[in-house]
Amino acid sequence: MSTTERPRILIVGGGYVGLYAARRILKKMRYAEATVTVVDPRSYMTYQPFLPEAAAGSISPRHVVVPLRRVVRGAEVLTGRVTTIDQDRKVATIAPLVGEAYELPFDYLVISMGAVSRTFPIPGLAEQGIGMKGIEEAIGLRNHVLEQLDKADSTTDEEVRRKALTFVFVGGGFAGAETIGEVEDMARDAAKYYQNVSREDMRFVLVDAADKILPEVGPKLGQYGKEHLESRGIEIYLETSMDSCVDGHVVLKNGLEVDSSTIVWTAGVKPNPALARFGLPLGPRGHVDCNEKLQVNGMDHVWAAGDNAQVPDLAAIKAGVPAERAWCPPNAQHALRQAKILGDNVVSGMRGFPQKEYSHANKGAVAGLGLHKGVAMIVMGKFKIKLKGRLAWYMHRGYHGMAMPTFNRKIRVFADWTLGMFLKREVVSLGAMETPREEFYEAAKPAPAPAAAAPAPEKAKAS
Ligand SMILES: Cc1cc2nc3c(=O)[nH]c(=O)nc-3n(C[C@H](O)[C@H](O)[C@H](O)COP(=O)(O)OP(=O)(O)OC[C@H]3O[C@@H](n4cnc5c(N)ncnc54)[C@H](O)[C@@H]3O)c2cc1C
Repeated sequence: MSTTERPRILIVGGGYVGLYAARRILKKMRYAEATVTVVDPRSYMTYQPFLPEAAAGSISPRHVVVPLRRVVRGAEVLTGRVTTIDQDRKVATIAPLVGEAYELPFDYLVISMGAVSRTFPIPGLAEQGIGMKGIEEAIGLRNHVLEQLDKADSTTDEEVRRKALTFVFVGGGFAGAETIGEVEDMARDAAKYYQNVSREDMRFVLVDAADKILPEVGPKLGQYGKEHLESRGIEIYLETSMDSCVDGHVVLKNGLEVDSSTIVWTAGVKPNPALARFGLPLGPRGHVDCNEKLQVNGMDHVWAAGDNAQVPDLAAIKAGVPAERAWCPPNAQHALRQAKILGDNVVSGMRGFPQKEYSHANKGAVAGLGLHKGVAMIVMGKFKIKLKGRLAWYMHRGYHGMAMPTFNRKIRVFADWTLGMFLKREVVSLGAMETPREEFYEAAKPAPAPAAAAPAPEKAKAS
């Protein structure tokens, strides 16, 4: 960490907003006008819309993340977590990857910590659930699912086999519907190589408390998405929730009970709870309370955007939505555009210039549901174009491929897709990646001390 006479712009979180805001500030700033510091517990930004494809092996996991130090050259990148902020002293406490926590003073502050999985106190969830927020989880899920096929293929125990081949997904928004669509597709493909496992032996279950899935693409396409997944043998239970999943025994509110080794939790997100320790005004659901210029209300040197911010949706207000209900939804579309305005506003704020307002009208949404399958809703002025099937899937790939940050990553992602057209999908499970040292330890561990020598047998007594 550098100590400097220049003002410091501290960016908390190097995800979508953090990365783009840092790049914008560095681009607009005069030479040595400020020190830009980005703090994140990970050294890379994750392009979350590609996590389902990474879980299905259509994109290499490394190509879904962007190394921060390479793309925000000129900024100081600290790998650690901001744990508290003292707003009176303008000092943040950083817990680095290793060693003691330390304090870092700042002059301007950007809050871009995103969201965390929204969970409920469901018995068994913490022990059994797999989230879908980070690349580690996507890699873990892929290995885990393929490992279940390996297990089912090799066991003679019918109960173990049934549990291994039952996959439960909770949450049918973007993340849940896309993940189950992609993972089912991969498992169907992989089953071709197993002697004792076929797609018909597997059970995929999707549960949502709402009365529809994929609300982001509207009711008609959501219904199409549901029917499409059902046509692939996925059981979908709406208006129901999971009551418990202790030891993988899943109990749903509608009375259904199944044993499953795989419980994927994608039931929405909530703002990062660490925000409560940052001395900032928070909205009713825990977001940082911002105005339309992305400034935190009442603090003109602090800005926030993305999933952790409550930002008025000026376009929705203009379209007639009451202001008390018009907040920008937590998605990449807003995060990216907010980041750019935020970057400009930080530089203007530093120079004492006026701030720009953020306004963006929804451009629609695209979702991939496995190879060559998808739904897309494109908003063009007053018209909404609805696409499904292969064409929608091309839109999904085209849109996200172009939205992937940096030219380097775009090329890598398109190269993965191109290879995937000619080569068969990789279906190897590298489950041992989670414990890479285990085998070496077995070989290298000290031999156990020899047991105490047994007493010499007594000589046979002469009869
Ligand atoms: C599976 C999935 C699929 C999605 N698909 C789509 C889609 O198709 N279309 C779409 O528009 N949106 C999609 N989204 C949503 C989109 O990815 C998010 O809205 C977007 O990433 C939000 O950006 P952000 O910068 O606010 O948060 P993030 O990108 O999550 O970044 C937050 C960063 O803060 C860091 N951080 C956390 N705690 C701390 C701390 N204490 N100190 C410092 N740093 C911290 C994190 O490590 C992270 O790097 C999807 C999300 C998921 C999970």
